[in-house]
Amino acid sequence: GSTLGILGSGQLGRMLAQSARRMGYRIHTLSPGSDTPTGQLADREVVADYDDLDAIADFARQVDVVTFEFENVASAATDAAAQHAPVRPRGQVLHITQNRRREKEALAAAGLPTAPFEVVDTQAQLAGAIDRIGTPAILKTAGFGYDGKGQTRVDRDTDPADAWEAIGGVPAVLEGFVDFAAELSVVAARGLDGAVVDYGLIENRHVDHILDVSIVDMPLAPEQAKAARDIAETVLSALDVVGVLCIELFLTRDGALLVNELAPRPHNSGHLTIEGCASSQFDQQLRAVCGLPLGDTRRLQPVAMVNLLGDHWAGGEPAWGAALADPAVNLHLYGKAEASAGRKMGHITAFGSDRDDAARRATAARAALHSTE
Ligand code: ATP
Ligand code: MG
Ligand code: MG
Repeated sequence: GSTLGILGSGQLGRMLAQSARRMGYRIHTLSPGSDTPTGQLADREVVADYDDLDAIADFARQVDVVTFEFENVASAATDAAAQHAPVRPRGQVLHITQNRRREKEALAAAGLPTAPFEVVDTQAQLAGAIDRIGTPAILKTAGFGYDGKGQTRVDRDTDPADAWEAIGGVPAVLEGFVDFAAELSVVAARGLDGAVVDYGLIENRHVDHILDVSIVDMPLAPEQAKAARDIAETVLSALDVVGVLCIELFLTRDGALLVNELAPRPHNSGHLTIEGCASSQFDQQLRAVCGLPLGDTRRLQPVAMVNLLGDHWAGGEPAWGAALADPAVNLHLYGKAEASAGRKMGHITAFGSDRDDAARRATAARAALHSTE
């Protein structure tokens, strides 16, 4: 059998490991943590920092292919791995998408629309950027942001010094605020042979900048749907991606699509493909990075997903039985011991007679976690 090496050890690696294991692979994982969500399911859990190039080279020597679920691995590390095993997607994809400035420049080079933005490297540049972009705007750190961390809103009366301080005074991007009608994502996969498939349009709703609900089959006009899927194909081909990549999009009130950001890996909004689609985004990631033919993305039933954050544990262990009382519901828990506020601990999916029914059932199941009877 073959061995899959995963850099990173969170829930994305865990769900990839579940697909990989089902298909007979051995799994090695490397991250600074131990007893991690991925490591719990791996054959070997290597504890090392992502900048420990010797450890990464040694890791790569013992696997057949290296992929990642943590996107802040430096080029030096992916280069070190690539000396010993194929890294898929290639390190350059990671390098571009881990930095908002490089990512936005790559999108612009591919002719794809984003919100207006300006690069801000120093506090001195911020005031001018605010003048040109206008308010409201959002100042985002160029690197290391997730779940809205490293972002601050800039309004007309915001003191640029406060905004600069709020993001920690590091290189950033100032983006025009998009008064969007909706958010959506396209999760797509590209094989070693260049074939591209996607899971259609997934509608996403965020609460406090964290994904809350995802629902399949967002109803858009056919030309908009085609435009969104064409954007995905353009991105995967332009970046020469081998693997899964998610494109997060804004739908503006006048019907335009703007790319928000890219995630070069399976994505939270694609978790509903595990039960909802013939081949899940994790099956697809495995197939792509291992050079196998891609699977069928066909959606089997209307399905929706809701995230379970650590907040749900605040009153003690949630009432799992109450959530599962609806047989259309499936529960996923990531094996994290510590349930801090805002931390992604698991998710719930639900099938429904249509997409609204699926979303209602998933949301109701989550609400039932706190039922007291
Ligand atoms: P993640 O990687 O977890 O998706 P992130 O920290 O990289 O999150 P973004 O995707 O940039 O953050 O932003 C999180 C959410 O904040 C978006 O999904 C959207 O709801 C809102 N948001 C971000 N940028 C803008 C914008 N320019 N205009 C309006 N809303 C925005
Ligand atoms: Mg992001
Ligand atoms: Mg995002």
